[in-house]
Amino acid sequence: MNILVLGGGGREHALCWRLRQSPRCAALICAPGNAGIAAVADCVAISITDGAAVLALVRDRQIGLVVVGPEAPLVAGVADALRAAGVPVLGPSAAAAQLEASKGFTKDLSAEHGIPTARFRRFADAAEAHHYVAVHPLPVVVKADGLAGGKGVTVAETNEEGLAALAEIHGPVVVEQCLEGPEASLFILTDGETVRLLPTAQDHKRLRDGDQGPNTGGMGAISPSPRLTPDLIERALTEIVRPTLASMKARGTPFQGFLYAGLMLTPTGPMLIEYNVRLGDPEAQVLMLRLASDAVELFWAAATGHLAEVEPVFSDDAAVTVVMAANGYPSRPVMGTAIEGLAAAEALGVTIFHAGTRISEDGRLVAAGGRVLNVTALGHDISEARALAYAAIRKIRWHGGHFRRDIGKSA
Ligand code: ATP
Repeated sequence: MNILVLGGGGREHALCWRLRQSPRCAALICAPGNAGIAAVADCVAISITDGAAVLALVRDRQIGLVVVGPEAPLVAGVADALRAAGVPVLGPSAAAAQLEASKGFTKDLSAEHGIPTARFRRFADAAEAHHYVAVHPLPVVVKADGLAGGKGVTVAETNEEGLAALAEIHGPVVVEQCLEGPEASLFILTDGETVRLLPTAQDHKRLRDGDQGPNTGGMGAISPSPRLTPDLIERALTEIVRPTLASMKARGTPFQGFLYAGLMLTPTGPMLIEYNVRLGDPEAQVLMLRLASDAVELFWAAATGHLAEVEPVFSDDAAVTVVMAANGYPSRPVMGTAIEGLAAAEALGVTIFHAGTRISEDGRLVAAGGRVLNVTALGHDISEARALAYAAIRKIRWHGGHFRRDIGKSA
């Protein structure tokens, strides 16, 4: 079967890398891809939020399955366009992608179905929310309703800070009670009916060691996450994920694809912070490294309503991925610096997934984005996997990048 993957980051490299290993995978195409993905797939530069352009590529390359990496094409309705044309696609409809695209939608749905989440109020715009934020007990959480690339949320310690955050928001607003507790993520794969639990994983959002510095897209991830015990997973599934899926189905907009629930583990139990309607990046990198089943068979089953027939198997090994980012990331990453030594690093047994990379005119691998490489390793436990990942990083010669030295350390 010919397969198309949409996206061009580390998550999509991990998806392509795992799909490529399946004997069922004939041609593998990735749009737009990156320099690392080009080693396992045929990269094509199209606009992946343009349903007509994606459909044209699907017809041209006789694609039998489309796997969508990021949220933007899903929210733009690309999965709907493909499904309407009879193309199997792994990823939710635009209506079901509202679980990520509108925080207000998810809050209302949670309230309606008794799904534990922070108390909240929705407002049409910042002006309408002004008085509420000015007098809200502290801390207060101010959120832009729509997609904001991880920058739409402020946990404000003062009402002034809350109002300053509000002033930056153009469009609908959600104001929430602040929850306390460690955060954890739960990942599932569903065909709309059957739910398959994926291993737990935990990202490291802050830029610097010790969870200091600004939030980023993610500086590393580990799997499994020590925070989610079997009991907490069961509670999150029964109290949060299953009621959500049931209500989406009842609305006539069943959710199909990867669903990632961001949870706060409060003293009263897991509470929903947010949903993402796709795999996390860099969590996908550790999850794909641990996936031991045939990815084509699994993704195909989820895309076509046959997930009940396939039980995915994951390695018992632990996985760690360390993100190497360009200097200046996240605000102003410096592009174009040369990277060497990847072969020597990989010779130690790690898998390096590329994010922002390209081949320069003179044939060298150079940085072409904020997050650039994901050095990903397996081990009997997190400590063995992290030792291997960091040993491999020492082989990489790149003066334009930096990375956290404590990924997986506290685990
Ligand atoms: P991302 O894209 O980084 O996943 P996002 O913009 O979609 O983030 P959320 O995940 O809803 O936004 O919130 C980002 C972070 O803000 C959370 O990971 C959490 O640390 C904090 N946060 C959000 N809501 C609350 C809350 N009600 N109480 C305490 N902290 C919160």
